[in-house]
Amino acid sequence: MIYKQYGKTELNVSAVGFGGMRFDTARSQAENADLIHYAFDQGITWFDTAPGYCSDQSEDIFGRAIKKLAPRREDFFISTKAMPADFPTAVNTRAAVAKSLRRLQTDYIDFFYVWCIRSWPEYELAMKPGGMYEGLLQCREEGLIRHIAVSTHLRGERVEQLLSKNEFEGVLLGVNLLNFLYRWKGVEAAARMGLGVAAMNPLAGGIIPSHEKELAFLGTEGQTPTEAALRFCLSCPQITVTLNGFTTKDHIDTACRAADRAKPLTNEEITRIRSHVTEKMDRLCTGCQYCMDKCPRQIPIASFMQFYNNKILAGKSDQEMSKDLDFQKKWGFLVDRKAEAEDCIRCGRCEMACTQHLDIIHRLEEIADWERAVKESKPDPR
Ligand code: SF4
Ligand code: SF4
Repeated sequence: MIYKQYGKTELNVSAVGFGGMRFDTARSQAENADLIHYAFDQGITWFDTAPGYCSDQSEDIFGRAIKKLAPRREDFFISTKAMPADFPTAVNTRAAVAKSLRRLQTDYIDFFYVWCIRSWPEYELAMKPGGMYEGLLQCREEGLIRHIAVSTHLRGERVEQLLSKNEFEGVLLGVNLLNFLYRWKGVEAAARMGLGVAAMNPLAGGIIPSHEKELAFLGTEGQTPTEAALRFCLSCPQITVTLNGFTTKDHIDTACRAADRAKPLTNEEITRIRSHVTEKMDRLCTGCQYCMDKCPRQIPIASFMQFYNNKILAGKSDQEMSKDLDFQKKWGFLVDRKAEAEDCIRCGRCEMACTQHLDIIHRLEEIADWERAVKESKPDPR
């Protein structure tokens, strides 16, 4: 395992971080807690969670694991988060911290994130007098949290502006081998300012492992696209810790192997990948699900957007997309849908919530066209 210094702190953290958003909730909490113990035994010392992850079980699972690891509490780091819109005042932020502490079964949280800043008003809400940031400063003063960091989906220049006042000790950014050309300004700004940088989505929310054929160009000699993507984040000097959403021991082993062999990509490899990566690859749905409880028409937005990824990655024609859509609706992941793409009333709530700033409404219009093409190609059964 590689260990890296986290920003200006004196903490050395494992380059592989355990992202607690992909536990298999069909398993018991005790089984999932064992997965955390396994990761710790492999040298992983960074554990990231949040309220709401895995049907709101993630913090509790970590709590079980931490209870058992209590004698080694100084040997690992735990991070969790709260969103300014949910906790807009210092008082309720303190309550959020207290709740996380209870669930995590620990006396202190190493890194607490102002979570998921997607727009400037969200940042301003967190920083207003009497707001979340003030609450976190008080919690740090009391020893309930040790470091204040921020997680953001803003674009590069805005990330630089967000960090410029020196309010945070670290930042969590979505960066990977597919989108780095379009996200790099933020990573570089954070590293230049001496902040710890955590990378989320190193495998683009599962897009890279599930599209290895279309993304074969990411692979390097002897490495699959998935291994190359892990290697990219783990070996990058500007990135301190790479969060991986683990479900199985096998996932942990793969990430640890990648860390053991990680050496930075060569200039030739970067140039070759650069020639294949287009701006469209910064516009893929990562399946984060942040849009899912927003739709008044119950459209399965994340499923439709992940379906749309195929158009971007495989460059399929309208005819091919119509055919695939028909198949997915009858037999695939769209079978249980409660609404169609054409049911969209363009209220815009999903786009406000989307971490990747996707033009969801426009994409749904395209999908509705594919739906119509399927209907028109079939004879009326009456
Ligand atoms: S814009 Fe359409 S898909 Fe998005 S939340 Fe509104 S109705 Fe749902
Ligand atoms: S549409 Fe946006 S918010 Fe919804 S799952 Fe995809 S990336 Fe996440």
